[in-house]
Amino acid sequence: MKEQIEKVFTEKFGGGPFITITTPSRANLIGEHIDYQGGYVLPAGVDRFIFSCGRKRKDNRIKLLSFNYNQYFETDTENIIYQKKYKWANYILGVLAEYRKLGYDIPGIEIAIGGNIPVGSGLSSSAAVEISIAVLFQKITGIEIEPLELIKLARRAENEFVGVSCGIMDQFSIYLSKKDNALLINCKTLEYRYVPLLMDGLKFLLVDTKKERSLSSSVYNSRVASVKEAVGIIRQYRDIEFLTEIDDITPYKDKLSEETYKRALHIVEENKRVLEAVSCLERNDFNGFGELMYQSHKSLKKLYEVSCEELDFIVGFAKNIDGVKGARLTGAGMGGCALVLLEESIISQFISELTPLYQKTFGINPEFYLFQPVDGALYQNP
Ligand code: ADP
Ligand code: MG
Repeated sequence: MKEQIEKVFTEKFGGGPFITITTPSRANLIGEHIDYQGGYVLPAGVDRFIFSCGRKRKDNRIKLLSFNYNQYFETDTENIIYQKKYKWANYILGVLAEYRKLGYDIPGIEIAIGGNIPVGSGLSSSAAVEISIAVLFQKITGIEIEPLELIKLARRAENEFVGVSCGIMDQFSIYLSKKDNALLINCKTLEYRYVPLLMDGLKFLLVDTKKERSLSSSVYNSRVASVKEAVGIIRQYRDIEFLTEIDDITPYKDKLSEETYKRALHIVEENKRVLEAVSCLERNDFNGFGELMYQSHKSLKKLYEVSCEELDFIVGFAKNIDGVKGARLTGAGMGGCALVLLEESIISQFISELTPLYQKTFGINPEFYLFQPVDGALYQNP
């Protein structure tokens, strides 16, 4: 894949030296829908990649080539504005626009980008594009900003330029993940640390529902609104910034509507589960970790209500297979992927038994991505 993108770069822009940046995707192991409430999350780098090739130009043209979309877009450095017709280009232009806002000069630049991260499956291909372009831009220009500033800049490109609200986990993980580790992030303080994954004989398998996620952004926004409402009400009794600062939410049960209480209860409990999950990993207790994955899924289904039939089917199937330690939806939900922790020796059996059942029930074939946690973009491009 990398060589193919390097080849199209040279075909389009001519020979001579250029830089290639390798950027992975990510999966969240546990800690779902709590990043925006200052919670803990535990993502890891997934070995599906975006490759971006680029170099400076002598003029002020910005020339962008998409390998996957087979499209070309060109503008100049004075015209870095939102493009309705070239959606993918906005993830690149947005990053350049953010560097400009920080006061940096944007030179003419030519870029070819592509990769094998499935789009819209919850592996955060969008954040991978943003991080990839930020790293490429810095390597090309020699500009260097602090890791945390780069992560925040990439997120702003998505929030402000593209116009999609997302937490900070995706850009964080895609930049700073480390091989064979999970990354524990405190989304309130942005402190982080690595948690080694000593997965003797075990693997993580992503099962892609391949479901269209048409409603997901409105559901996402309505859950955020409910939780904000809960925070507002609880603030009448207690000084908090985020729900994750609360250890026990039951005293507030009759102050909240039934629905708001359920959403809030998910946030409080899921946050605690992440720290329990980390302590399981630290004592190599993968049975305990797997049990927390099931609990997380149940909470996302019953309390936060962002699961769907397809995800429940996969998790339900996994529960009945010997050698599976745990399973849960990962990412925003309503589609996307389920994450399964299982013994290496049963992977092919798992796939060959699930596929026809899933196909028969939903009329689509699931896809499977087996992964070993990989380095984030910072370490991939020394
Ligand atoms: P995801 O969950 O994968 O992040 P999003 O809808 O947030 O899904 O982002 C997907 C968008 O990111 C695509 O529509 C496209 O604009 C951009 N993108 C993803 N992968 C690529 C790629 N290989 N090349 C160019 N743009 C990409
Ligand atoms: Mg995205």
